[in-house]
Amino acid sequence: MLRQIIVCSLVILSAFYGAEAQNCPRIVTRAQWGARAANTAQLPIRPAPFAVMHHTAGSACATEAACATQMRNIQNFHMNTNGWADIGYNFCVGNDGNAYEGRGWGRQGAHAPPYNNQSVGICIFGTFTSALPSAAALNASRLLITCGVSLGHLRPAYWVIGHRQASATECPGTALFNDIRNWPRFNANPSPV
Ligand SMILES: [Zn+2]
Repeated sequence: MLRQIIVCSLVILSAFYGAEAQNCPRIVTRAQWGARAANTAQLPIRPAPFAVMHHTAGSACATEAACATQMRNIQNFHMNTNGWADIGYNFCVGNDGNAYEGRGWGRQGAHAPPYNNQSVGICIFGTFTSALPSAAALNASRLLITCGVSLGHLRPAYWVIGHRQASATECPGTALFNDIRNWPRFNANPSPV
């Protein structure tokens, strides 16, 4: 009985401190969602001073299978139709609370000029003009940003902005943008470094 309690406590403690140490959401890797191979450039300005938030302006997804399908569809569109080297975003986040690895940390994305050479581009699957992502997606997005800081990929004094602050677009949707305006390190008047 005592041994079971000790073992159980150790499992709980290691899970707790493991999550604390990494401070990251669960990340579904490229291999896990079935990404095509791609060659992307290293981010020129590192650690990144900006995190740029997007929505996909498509449908939301709430299961790993559905979000993985969307990652493959977006990657195909960005590579085949746009002619880009890879999916444009560094990460995408689903209503399931998972972050899906796009170009990943430390790589230059194609999502929000003139910030592509100095940002981590994060999209949330869905259209958030009037509705918000799930609480799980919002939490995972914010956690992904602090995760990036803890791993050295984002500056500790980073800024968060919405795509509409980089160029003329409705992205990331007015409802989501109004939420982002209340996130830590939101910058109301950004300019590239
Ligand atoms: Zn966008």
